[in-house]
Amino acid sequence: MKRLAAVVLTFALSTALFAQAKLNKKMNQTAGAGASASTSKTEYRATNSSGTAAQPNDSEYTNSIIKNTTDKMFLTEIVDHLPASAKVPSPAKVLGYPIGTPGKLTYTADQYRYYRELEKATPRVKVFTAPEKSEQGREQMLVVVSDEANLAKLARYKEITAKLADPRTTNEDVAKQLIAEGKVIYWASGSIHSSETGSPEMLMEMAYRLAVEDTPLIQAIRKNVIVMITPTLEVDGRDSMVDLYNYRKANEGKRTPGLIYWGKYVAHDNNRDSLGMALALSRNQMSAFLEYHPTVLHDLHESVPFLYTSTGTGPYNAWLDPIVIDEWQSLAYYEIEEMTKRGVPGVWTHGFYDGWAPNYMFYVANGHNSIGRFYETFGNGGADTQDRVVNQESGRDWFRPNPPLARVKWSIRNNINMQESAILLAMNYVGLNKDRFLGNFYLKSKRSVAKAKTEGPAAYVLPASDTRPVEASELINLLKLQGCEVQRLTKDTEVKEGKFAAGSYVVRMDQPYSRMADMLLDTQYYNVNDPRPYDDTGWTLGPLHNVKTVRVKDEKILAAPMTLIDGPVKVTGKVEGTGKAAFVVNHTAESAIAQLRYRLKDVKFSAAEASFKIGDKNFNAGSYIIKVDGNPADVAERLAKEAAALGLTATAVDKIPEVANHAVSVPRIAIVHTWLNTQDEGWYRVEFDRLGIPYDYISDQALGRTPNLREKYDVILFGPIRTSAQNIVRGTPAFNEKEGAIPWKKSDVTPNFALSPDQTDDIRGGLGIQGVANLQAFIAAGGLFITVADNASIPIDFGITTGVSIQDARQLQARGAVYNTVFADRKSPIAYGYDEGLAVYFNQSPILQVAAFGGGGGGGGGFGQPPTSGRPSGRGSTDDPDVVQGRVPIVIPSATPTPDPGQAAQIPPPETRPRIVLRFAAEKDLLVSGMLAGGSELAGKPAVVDVPVGRGHVVMFANNPMWRHETHGSFSLLFNAILNYDSLGVGRTVPKPADPAKATEEQDQ
Ligand SMILES: [Zn+2]
Repeated sequence: MKRLAAVVLTFALSTALFAQAKLNKKMNQTAGAGASASTSKTEYRATNSSGTAAQPNDSEYTNSIIKNTTDKMFLTEIVDHLPASAKVPSPAKVLGYPIGTPGKLTYTADQYRYYRELEKATPRVKVFTAPEKSEQGREQMLVVVSDEANLAKLARYKEITAKLADPRTTNEDVAKQLIAEGKVIYWASGSIHSSETGSPEMLMEMAYRLAVEDTPLIQAIRKNVIVMITPTLEVDGRDSMVDLYNYRKANEGKRTPGLIYWGKYVAHDNNRDSLGMALALSRNQMSAFLEYHPTVLHDLHESVPFLYTSTGTGPYNAWLDPIVIDEWQSLAYYEIEEMTKRGVPGVWTHGFYDGWAPNYMFYVANGHNSIGRFYETFGNGGADTQDRVVNQESGRDWFRPNPPLARVKWSIRNNINMQESAILLAMNYVGLNKDRFLGNFYLKSKRSVAKAKTEGPAAYVLPASDTRPVEASELINLLKLQGCEVQRLTKDTEVKEGKFAAGSYVVRMDQPYSRMADMLLDTQYYNVNDPRPYDDTGWTLGPLHNVKTVRVKDEKILAAPMTLIDGPVKVTGKVEGTGKAAFVVNHTAESAIAQLRYRLKDVKFSAAEASFKIGDKNFNAGSYIIKVDGNPADVAERLAKEAAALGLTATAVDKIPEVANHAVSVPRIAIVHTWLNTQDEGWYRVEFDRLGIPYDYISDQALGRTPNLREKYDVILFGPIRTSAQNIVRGTPAFNEKEGAIPWKKSDVTPNFALSPDQTDDIRGGLGIQGVANLQAFIAAGGLFITVADNASIPIDFGITTGVSIQDARQLQARGAVYNTVFADRKSPIAYGYDEGLAVYFNQSPILQVAAFGGGGGGGGGFGQPPTSGRPSGRGSTDDPDVVQGRVPIVIPSATPTPDPGQAAQIPPPETRPRIVLRFAAEKDLLVSGMLAGGSELAGKPAVVDVPVGRGHVVMFANNPMWRHETHGSFSLLFNAILNYDSLGVGRTVPKPADPAKATEEQDQ
């Protein structure tokens, strides 16, 4: 795992690390010399190796292990040798080098080649291919290792865990028999995080050891456990990482890039996709889980020394059965004790992550009554041996009585030794306690089914009356992808929470995976006094999808007539009516509206500028009017086809609605990335690609090189990146002439970069001042520039916009959560299709501020700043007037401040002032889910601001409308801005210049 960090911070840390590593190079020669534990290690081995004498070791391989381990204390009797086999090839035989050889990292194709050789040579290994290929087209492999007798009965063992997973059809007596007959399944999953390089290497050696070795430990695991191995989960990123590592070796002494692209779309956030399942790797893990129902899913990470085994600090996820949290502790402390007994330093738990958000990959297990856990071991980000300094984690905190050493010489072999020893111990522990762990799995499943009547709720209902059937179906399909059952009411039903029409979706809480469904649909409350959250604090998917979900406690719902939905839900659209003049499509704020526009590019569309009626049917502002006259002859046919596919309803009319409207063009879009970090913008490409909305993907450097941006693009969307505008302008600095370029592109050493979403000869230099100037010209010439979250600072700090500033948070604590907003200007095209309010994802910054007259944008005090909220300090309650003692109480009427003549010149004319489209709700209504303190700083502040500049616009989003495939409800804010880029001024109330007071009311905070 990897904590989210600003680019700047990451850069600073790695620079510091590099510098310190250099400084300490000499000092560390003796680091870790105090390996006095080796005596007890030998004893331990002596008492445990009684049955091993018969099996010879592969001496060359064994020597490599010993040689490449920097100190005996990082070895155990489990991994200090490799048994020889005449029949089964060791990794060295196939790859040409023993695992953990410095300088060697293995591509996925070679990993797969090894596992296939292994499968050929032994009946103890089976190789499977996951259902989906990666986004770059690579295969995803699953390896199963166990005793040949177990593998011969693999189908039966899968059947047993499947039956234990569903206590509705498996009673206690049957369960007991199944537990006695069954096997635990332990799933080790390698390298979801591509810069964490050790686990794919370790897993190959572990597979060989499990297939070949005859020590009592390995024999016991083979007999009691079915081991599943995902050799590398992020296959695209792994191959890029091996390329990058080889490139670094070939260019020693030169500056080289970081791992800019991991998978096609996102970097470390591939491990935050368990909620949205947007990535093939998440869906593959989910489907493998539902096929095997493994007892444990163990995700292998590398970020902290030497071995952190997961439990978390709390607050723990409140939707999990507490039994699993106890299991985390039990397994972690077993590993710590066993590794500590062997004299290994620095194996610890607790103080790293919280255990709250369910967005991590291993929630594939945790969310489905199994055990999801992870290691963080110490990786060097490649395969070199390095002198490393351990800062914080070398402290002897209560949870770390045997801490990592403050300085250490560290090798990839050390890393492999730690992972492999500990995970084999854990596998054995789970195998020896089979009845307990399989019994717990059954019990947790049973309690999940009982949940509907024990703790409740009984169900969640998605009412059929929802006006966004396509978005509702998306949410239902996500639940189904997660293995949850969803039913549909066959009759109108009334319960305490309300009346639901036939066709409403029901997610029952008396099903095995009720925990996951509840986790996704319920609301979260994260107390700010709890430990600092590791990641998002709120994620309630109903509000984020803008889909109504009703939490129903009334158990009567469980008896309502309903049928189980088989397969994914598909909403089929239609054409209603028989009119010949035009088609009208209601704007529902669903993404399908934008998709329709791009699917019928050559067809003329216009958008209604106000709501209207046809018969008794309401149409929202923004609804499409597609006239037959002036459009291609086959428009009716094509519209019918696309509406059906997209789930939209088109109404054919004879009389064109009498409502003001404007043409909707098909804007040419650029999505911009930096070479500093491509993490967060990847989620935008996920959605645009999925929805089939075309765009050019360009770097900020390209903006600097392209003076005529307006000729090429209508809309430029600068993908979110968490750094300052100045850092974006500077980019990766070019220090001097001599150092040479830092390329990210395909070469003989980096063949896999050919599949990178973008390539460059030199990552140095960012947007540049010229890029800012080109952007400014683009906007002035009628383009739309869209910023997301912190990069609102680009137009603000470089003076492209007037009247908007970013306010520093003083008390606000709003870490990655769901907040209510209200539309401040429903006439803006950006608001088309929406109701009065919307729940959005917001993460701590920016707090946007729009000045009273659009002046004072610098964020300082004085004229142009809105008055601070609340009453002045003084006597009385919050509502009492401020009474100055010694004089009669005076009620001062509210009035607009009058600018002094010096400042008046700074005030833009009304039509160019920032237009607040969406605001954060009042403090009492602000929080939907997650964390909130100091909410007064955010309450009422702009969430979406449209700033006219020249002939164009800058639209700033304080919320992130495309976050981790979770915020479908906000997508239309972005698409509305894009589709109406040349009509954003529509519906704007321009106050009379003579009456600036009114303008203040309109525009003020
Ligand atoms: Zn990681």
